[in-house]
Amino acid sequence: MNDKPSTPRMDPARRRWLQALAVSPALAGAAAAPLPARAALKTQARIVIAGSGLGGIAVANRLAGLLDGAKITIVDRKEEHNYQPGYTLVATGVWPVDKVRDRNADYQPAGVEWVKDMVAGFDPAANTVITAGGQRIPYDFLVVAIGVHMDFGLIEGMDVAAIGREGLASVYPSPQAAQATWAAMQAFTARGGHAVMTLPATPLKCAGAPLKMSFLLRDRLHKAGTLGASKISFESALGNVFGVKVVNDNVLERWKTLGIDVEYSRKLASIDIGARRATFVTPEGEKQEMPYDFIHVVPPMRAPDAVKNSDLAWKQGPFAAGGWLEVDKSTLQHRRYPNVFGIGDINGTPRGKTAATVKKSAPLVAHNLVEVMAGRKPDQTFDGYTSCPLITREGSAMLIEFDYEGRLTPSLPMIEPLQDSYFAWLMKYRMLKPAYMAVLKGRV
Ligand SMILES: Cc1cc2nc3c(=O)[nH]c(=O)nc-3n(C[C@H](O)[C@H](O)[C@H](O)COP(=O)(O)OP(=O)(O)OC[C@H]3O[C@@H](n4cnc5c(N)ncnc54)[C@H](O)[C@@H]3O)c2cc1C
Repeated sequence: MNDKPSTPRMDPARRRWLQALAVSPALAGAAAAPLPARAALKTQARIVIAGSGLGGIAVANRLAGLLDGAKITIVDRKEEHNYQPGYTLVATGVWPVDKVRDRNADYQPAGVEWVKDMVAGFDPAANTVITAGGQRIPYDFLVVAIGVHMDFGLIEGMDVAAIGREGLASVYPSPQAAQATWAAMQAFTARGGHAVMTLPATPLKCAGAPLKMSFLLRDRLHKAGTLGASKISFESALGNVFGVKVVNDNVLERWKTLGIDVEYSRKLASIDIGARRATFVTPEGEKQEMPYDFIHVVPPMRAPDAVKNSDLAWKQGPFAAGGWLEVDKSTLQHRRYPNVFGIGDINGTPRGKTAATVKKSAPLVAHNLVEVMAGRKPDQTFDGYTSCPLITREGSAMLIEFDYEGRLTPSLPMIEPLQDSYFAWLMKYRMLKPAYMAVLKGRV
């Protein structure tokens, strides 16, 4: 007989649950496991990483662990690091703004050179990056991670600095805009009225954010007791409200019950902020004026000029108009310049402009780049994993996960993808930021 006290046995259901949490692409990192050790590749290669957001820093940290002797240079003027997935929580009064503010310097790996300037142009034929300040930086390998450009300029009369006043809101541009959006939302929900929510037809980072803002605005009106005096109109230029059909249908069904009206072919063309009047155009070119008390503006998005105007951009096909980076959607290697890789929102791929996409693809980009540096072919492939916790009200969300094909790819067996739950809300509210930080540090 063995007298030693036995280790308490974990209930098998609980063990399965914890295992699922650890490997779920949506969450792994909240309970980060150490990476398997691998011998670093000795090299003196010069690697330039353009962009110091989530994708750029995540890949830099990964490369720092996989390489020995490489000279890594990061180019980006921005010093503040923002946890953008938290903006919707700031803009709806759930989080204070300081929860989405951090410093890039605290997350870049030791030993990298940080050029605090913007990339003005890429010359991939000469393996050179040109900065706005006129510096020419040669490279052997390049990682492009410069995110999206928000084209507010395409909406005549729009002024980002005015967000927060006269019922003008937009969660997208910055922490300040998210905070000001909450001020505008509070003023609006105190009295109620007509709210107009917009959606452009371009690819968007976190395409679920305009939907979350609509759900949460309705929730705030309900809580303020002014829902009865209000109307929410969702004006889409996209022909639908979300690119994955089952999700689109699910949201529309919910909105029918919640009384959120949808128009499918109206593009926001101009706005008179002082008069609180928006003008939409239909595909036939007909103009329709709409007075409002509150408007949530979602800007059209495209690649920043540095990529759009360079030879790195798609020249034909569906991603050419936005000037997105021409990468192979499986390996994320540039299709014409094999020493160039793309990570994050800049990539011209069918879907995937979320932090969750970076989480799953940053290890792959770092690995494939090292393979190319070692003279081999990239051997890991990406399925386009994209994920969005779609908040339906404060305290409830749906965890939507899908791939390039728009197939749902639920990673937590206990969560029904199209069913809202408190757990999915808890993930968004509490668990995704630690997971994001683990990605940033290159730990998952
Ligand atoms: C409102 C909102 C809600 C979101 N919600 C979610 C969510 O719930 N779940 C989720 O997974 N994702 C969400 N996201 C998306 C997620 O934040 C992005 O997909 C992610 O940050 C992409 O990382 P990135 O590195 O490609 O771009 P970013 O993190 O945006 O970084 C781009 C960097 O490039 C820099 N840059 C730009 N131009 C240049 C240039 N010319 N030269 C040098 N540097 C340049 C910028 O300064 C920036 O630092 C949300 C985003 C927003 C805005």
